[in-house]
Amino acid sequence: MTLALTRSTVAYFSMEICLEQAIPTYSGGLGVLAGDTLRSAADLGVPEVAVTLLHRKGYFAQHLDAEGRQTESPVTWKPEAELELMDGRSTVLIEGRTVHVAAWKYAVKGVRGHEVPVFLLDTNLPENGEFDRTLTDFLYGGDEYYRLCQEIVLGMGGADMLRALGYDDGLIYHLNEGHSALLTLQLLERQLDGRRHFELLNADLDTVRRRCVFTTHTPVPAGHDKFPLDTVRRVLGDERVALLEGAGGVHQDMLNMTHLALNLTRYVNGVAMRHRDVSRSMFPDYPISSITNGVHAATWAGPAFAALFDRLIPEWRRDNLYLRYAVSIPLQDIRDAHAESKLTLLNEVKRRTKVQLDPSVMTIGFARRATPYKRGDLIFSDIDRLSSIVKNVGRLQVVFGGKAHPHDGGGKELIRRIFAAREQLGNLVEVVYLENYEMALAHQMVAGVDLWLNNPMKPLEASGTSGMKAAINGVPSFSVLDGWWVEGHVEGVTGWSIGGPDAEGDPGRDALDLYAKLERVILPLYYGLPFAYAEVMRSAIALNGSFFNTQRMVGQYVHNAYFPNGLPADILVEETALL
Ligand SMILES: *Cc1c(COP(=O)(O)O)cnc(C)c1O
Repeated sequence: MTLALTRSTVAYFSMEICLEQAIPTYSGGLGVLAGDTLRSAADLGVPEVAVTLLHRKGYFAQHLDAEGRQTESPVTWKPEAELELMDGRSTVLIEGRTVHVAAWKYAVKGVRGHEVPVFLLDTNLPENGEFDRTLTDFLYGGDEYYRLCQEIVLGMGGADMLRALGYDDGLIYHLNEGHSALLTLQLLERQLDGRRHFELLNADLDTVRRRCVFTTHTPVPAGHDKFPLDTVRRVLGDERVALLEGAGGVHQDMLNMTHLALNLTRYVNGVAMRHRDVSRSMFPDYPISSITNGVHAATWAGPAFAALFDRLIPEWRRDNLYLRYAVSIPLQDIRDAHAESKLTLLNEVKRRTKVQLDPSVMTIGFARRATPYKRGDLIFSDIDRLSSIVKNVGRLQVVFGGKAHPHDGGGKELIRRIFAAREQLGNLVEVVYLENYEMALAHQMVAGVDLWLNNPMKPLEASGTSGMKAAINGVPSFSVLDGWWVEGHVEGVTGWSIGGPDAEGDPGRDALDLYAKLERVILPLYYGLPFAYAEVMRSAIALNGSFFNTQRMVGQYVHNAYFPNGLPADILVEETALL
């Protein structure tokens, strides 16, 4: 089904989008979510286009030496081999310079053939100066000035590009995080049509607001994108700074992208119920809703489970609600599919590290950005305790993955501590740390381990999505009650909690709780009652796989955020296309 371009097309803006393994235009959760969102929008036939930056030199390739010291190198890839260069051009003004922007197209194809075009913006053009040609090279690279320039290209250049490519003014703009908030400045200037900042009316702001929705992803004030006003004035000029002030984008003498987005959008949501509550307490003046994240089920189901679902609940690809019926899949089939996924992962571990892990040993997976608050080494906080559990109750092995941001010294230190713990544990607990946690590796890890561990400090996990990918593969989560797990957790049914339900948490208790539950509940179940363990695996699919997917999520965006008054008549969607 292909839709004609409709006036009510959604324009999705995101600093990073994970399209496929060969296109390194993402760093982690935000980008994977963006990619999964577009994959589901394409499946559902939602009229949507997306805008991001090209990131010619990617995020970075991670190298770890024998002590776990991380070094980085740029990733090179060939846009011309993966993407189609468009004819349209746009320009942005940076410190008085006209910077030219081109766009490359990638088409996300849905299960029924509908396409969502993604435009990746590129400033590496001969008409630009040396520095400006690098603006779309590095994701989250460079300094504050570089970042501001990038956000001008993304927001202002992106909005202008859509016009150059023939999208009309009826677009609904979705800001996936605040990085693209300057697109609202572009829309405001169009609305003013030459009038000056002192002529700005509330009605002008309302006109922009009516067309924009905003998803915030950050649960701490320090995480919100902001720029010193003198830099902004130098780069964007006095008139634009005055407009940004008039639009409520300036907070504590900084251009604050979250405030700008909050003020110029009509609908704002957090990415899980708990995150909505945390966001409301940070921004009490704004009505903040919640749409809990999801993952693209057909992308994240490994080959073994995809084949099992295809055989027993073949409708699952088109309609993820059918995953509910996993509840009647025979436990032996669940165990067989998991054994196959586990073997695939252990072979990959062997290929990469020469370490042969034992398929009969309970395998814990932990992979996410290496940064202190995620506490990747919590399980090693008491080596003696861990050793005694392993000796007395049952053996364990742990597979790690995750990059530290090049400037995150604490994150790099965390990786070194995990390497040190591995030395200390010797043969008692096999520990491997796999380099370059990216889409392809994530795919094998979330499916191939027996338990997915997540223990960030609360309330810092806005949602988290890797546990959802694990659930689709029948892998239970063992996680602190933060982000999506507050909603997905049913103790002993879909997995297990670490620590109590309160929002703030008690970081000191988490390790004790982790050890106690491993010792008394999880390891005894795994080794003593393997079919009861398989029942937890099955419930993770039926209860969580059927809900924490982007098909449900995009349906909620369509009905709650994009078209709260019902689908407009110009959307030529078959009745069954949307949830
Ligand atoms: C899913 C995914 C993430 C995000 O996982 P979290 O649970 O949110 O930490 C990060 N990186 C990659 C490669 C992923 O696939």
